[in-house]
Amino acid sequence: MESRRGILGTGLTGLGALALPGCATIATRRPVAATPATCLPRVNVSADRVIRTMAGLRPYRASGFVVRAEALDDKRLVHNYGHGGAGITLSWGTSRLAIELGLPGHQGPVAVLGAGVMGLTTARLVQEAGFPVTIYTAALPPDTTSNIAGGQWHPYGHFDGDAVTAEWRAQLARAADYSWRRFQIMVGNDYGIRWLPTYAESRNGRSDAHEPGRRLLGRQEHPFPVESVARYETMYIETGRFLRELAEDIQIAGGHIVVRSFATPAEVAALSERLVFNCTGLGAAALFGDKELTPIRGQLAILVPQPEVQYAFNGSAGYMFPRADGILLGGTFERGVADATPQSDDIARIVESHRRFYAGWRCG
Ligand SMILES: Cc1cc2nc3c(=O)[nH]c(=O)nc-3n(C[C@H](O)[C@H](O)[C@H](O)COP(=O)(O)OP(=O)(O)OC[C@H]3O[C@@H](n4cnc5c(N)ncnc54)[C@H](O)[C@@H]3O)c2cc1C
Repeated sequence: MESRRGILGTGLTGLGALALPGCATIATRRPVAATPATCLPRVNVSADRVIRTMAGLRPYRASGFVVRAEALDDKRLVHNYGHGGAGITLSWGTSRLAIELGLPGHQGPVAVLGAGVMGLTTARLVQEAGFPVTIYTAALPPDTTSNIAGGQWHPYGHFDGDAVTAEWRAQLARAADYSWRRFQIMVGNDYGIRWLPTYAESRNGRSDAHEPGRRLLGRQEHPFPVESVARYETMYIETGRFLRELAEDIQIAGGHIVVRSFATPAEVAALSERLVFNCTGLGAAALFGDKELTPIRGQLAILVPQPEVQYAFNGSAGYMFPRADGILLGGTFERGVADATPQSDDIARIVESHRRFYAGWRCG
């Protein structure tokens, strides 16, 4: 079936100009066929196209992420953890809030706990401000939650609106704003960041500063087998590549990464650095006794890459993010589940709901 772009490309839709020999040029109305739905490449979903499965634990807090400074013996300790399902999105932003709390008045080397997206972005910003940095971490990429993230830039699924304060909302707005701009200047293959049109099942076409171009589509403007779809643009981060590059940047700039696990605040207090950033994600629950931190498990099925798929989808069937390392199908939000192992029944359900969804494709 021809795409809408293909039809418009002929310039002959609707009124066409027809030249007859010996006559004046007259306008004629071409017969209008039933307009086909705008086409997009379909994702090929079947169980035998699954190349790997993953599960990770989102570090969720109903009252939102923690960016706060406190004293730990003779040190300044700055927390930067608890970003739920939006840690990639907010990383540069809350890390910037954290260094603004930590660096003023500080002299000398800096310690960062954790090598997920928060630890790496914090360490990089510390270096950019001119300070030497050492990252201490129990696990390195690719063995962090951050490596599992789908990588959509979308501040979503990280707090409960009834549990947050106005001050926290102000932190969120500043963090989202900086992150939004910082990721934009890193777009490209080096860091695995790109803009993609995103289609979301929605009845709302209102535009949002972080969803440029958002509008509700007419039924003929999309091939998805659902009634209401909005389209907007956002960035997608191929997390494995992004985190690897960031770790390399830190080391090239003289930063050190030490594999070490901390069991108590006293062990942290024994570090030689006088300024410490706590970017331990879910690990902050045990290390600093944050009882509000709750894991929300997310599971993903990854299909054989389809480079022709250059859009993302998010709706009741789940979400689909196309990446160079595979087509990501998600996802689950399992509150309180602390086992980061993919469950075959859940994975089968994720694949089946997407298979049914793409079987209903309304074009090509
Ligand atoms: C399936 C799934 C999909 C997601 N999709 C998205 C998405 O599309 N967009 C988005 O923005 N976010 C997404 N997220 C959320 C995102 O992954 C998290 O918010 C983010 O990774 C949290 O980063 P972090 O650095 O705080 O934690 P982590 O990545 O968990 O890093 C914590 C680090 O601290 C270290 N550590 C922990 N405890 C200790 C200790 N005691 N001593 C020393 N080191 C310690 C760990 O080893 C690790 O290096 C998704 C999450 C999941 C699970």
